[in-house]
Amino acid sequence: MTTNVVVFGSCNMDLVAYVPVAPSRGETVTGREFRTVPGGKGANQAIAAAKAGADTRMIGAIGADEFGAEIRRVFQESTVDTQGLRTVPGRSGTAHIVVDDSGDNSIIVVPAANGTVDALADGDEEIIASSDSLLLQLEIPQPGVAAAAAAGKRNGVRVVLTPAPAVPLPDELLRDVDLLVPNEHEAAVLTGHDDPERALAALLELVPEVVITLGARGCVYGDRDGVRHQVPAFPVQAVDTTAAGDTFVGVLSAALGEGEEVPEALRRAAAGSALSVQRNGATSAMPTRDEIVRFLA
Ligand code: ATP
Repeated sequence: MTTNVVVFGSCNMDLVAYVPVAPSRGETVTGREFRTVPGGKGANQAIAAAKAGADTRMIGAIGADEFGAEIRRVFQESTVDTQGLRTVPGRSGTAHIVVDDSGDNSIIVVPAANGTVDALADGDEEIIASSDSLLLQLEIPQPGVAAAAAAGKRNGVRVVLTPAPAVPLPDELLRDVDLLVPNEHEAAVLTGHDDPERALAALLELVPEVVITLGARGCVYGDRDGVRHQVPAFPVQAVDTTAAGDTFVGVLSAALGEGEEVPEALRRAAAGSALSVQRNGATSAMPTRDEIVRFLA
């Protein structure tokens, strides 16, 4: 059974410079390599879900520039439907990333076109209503996220929110969310609890289902009926953990939509992100459904 996933969120071009040592204030350093890779949490989750086998549509905005054209091309190559992807005047969103030899990075995000996604546009409600799951993150204006969540709720679509970047969230938004998927840091910002078990309990007061991802320690799941699952990460040699969380959410949504039970879907998501962290690049590292199934066999 295939499932319909729609992502309402951000699209960026990641501009990545690799340097031995990052520059300090006022300093110029010579970099070793430069790469451009489509990114943004919305685009990452859409490409992960599509590769994992879901019929996936992207709603968002790109600029009328070369980066926008490249982002659209990569969506199409990944079989993400771009009917809801608007081209707006001005620049596409960009993330300016410096990665040093210790693997540390510093990032400047310029939202640009993403800043225009602050409400539903014509046709968005129909796209959302004909989906099984709606994936949201917080890299577009919050009124846009809230409007999409409300449309999801109105139409009986499973609303999945990745609360990143970590900011306190209004109750009006959370009441429309079915499944919240923070990482450890985001869970702590939302609840004030560093301990994942306590954060999980606090988040379940706000939404019916929660997964807290714990990096190489896996994830914990809980729902309001008292069901709890702890799923370890697969022990792999990680070379680049960029977008591990987005891969996890995309694969999880594809698996739940196929009708997998929660523990199996979590395991499939952990396998998908374990495969992605072993390769460089965010979207280019995401595994296909076949690769995930083979990994689990
Ligand atoms: P990002 O911000 O980079 O997208 P995140 O902080 O949102 O990531 P994490 O909690 O780091 O998300 O990771 C999500 C999932 O990816 C984990 O639950 C785990 O299954 C898998 N994962 C992450 N890091 C590793 C690793 N080093 N080895 C194996 N699996 C990993």
